[in-house]
Amino acid sequence: MSEAVTVEPGAVEPFASVLRRHGLELTRGETTALQVNVGRLCNQACRHCHLEAGPGRPEVMGPETMDEVVRFAARAGFAAVDVTGGAPELVPDILDLLAALRPHTPRLILRSNLTALRERGPEFWGRLRDLGVVIVTSFPSVSRAQTDAQRGAGVWEQSLDMLRRLNELGYGVEGTGLELDLVSNPAGAFLPPNQCRAEERFRRDLARRWGIVFSHLYSFANVPLGRYRRWLEESGNLAGYLEKLAQAFNPATVGGLMCRTQLSVAWDGVLYDCDFHLAAGLPLGGRPRHVSECEGPPPAGTPVAAADHCYACTAGSGFT
Ligand code: SF4
Repeated sequence: MSEAVTVEPGAVEPFASVLRRHGLELTRGETTALQVNVGRLCNQACRHCHLEAGPGRPEVMGPETMDEVVRFAARAGFAAVDVTGGAPELVPDILDLLAALRPHTPRLILRSNLTALRERGPEFWGRLRDLGVVIVTSFPSVSRAQTDAQRGAGVWEQSLDMLRRLNELGYGVEGTGLELDLVSNPAGAFLPPNQCRAEERFRRDLARRWGIVFSHLYSFANVPLGRYRRWLEESGNLAGYLEKLAQAFNPATVGGLMCRTQLSVAWDGVLYDCDFHLAAGLPLGGRPRHVSECEGPPPAGTPVAAADHCYACTAGSGFT
């Protein structure tokens, strides 16, 4: 199917229009995972952060919303619950939230930036291990210079130290059942390298040079929202980056997009199709709906809002 499309100079074809041209629709499949965004508080203020998280951010999930989230998880019985932020490790009561979610899902994930996790100390790490929490950490590069440029001076050294400590606890070590995944994303206005090749390189370099092991590596494109979008604008890279993403549109990624199987709940309890729509202020179904109002996740076939930042999820091998 083809359709004539007029696009203003410097802009990209609207994402909804590119979907139509390929005869595709963005609708939910079965929603099997809940992502819980516990806030924007973070000890870092990375250039690529789509949520503009940082040390001064007051938005964190309180105990009442945590209770509502746990009740929702219990009602819906998600195959996975994925706790993210900001830096979730810094949120008061986070261990209580994880412990309360534990009985309601077979796969409980905590996203960590490693330096915040390091601040919490051995008792906290031991609790995560005892709860069998999967740890997914941001570790953008095996290069010290690149990591520090993206995340701040000293971050690389501290991250490496934390990975070592997690390995000592059994995380990432074959046979322990304790999963440790790394997430890498580019430091500039370009797309990530091939994921399989990047994983091989990280595995080889981290093991050979620092004796560190991990379970999986995911490499994702940065999403042109929040602080990253501002950086793209200020550095004159926005139009070029959007064009790169749009040119790399891969229709084969649409069936596996995370918004087809995941639901995102923000620190104030409002539901979104995904964490990027949360950052962009596009609530699920077009109006703010609180998690306490929902019996279960939206049924299969419910439309997902298509926005131009969706190009970041469909570029190359995609963001699934
Ligand atoms: S930003 Fe990505 S995950 Fe969110 S709705 Fe768009 S394609 Fe789906």
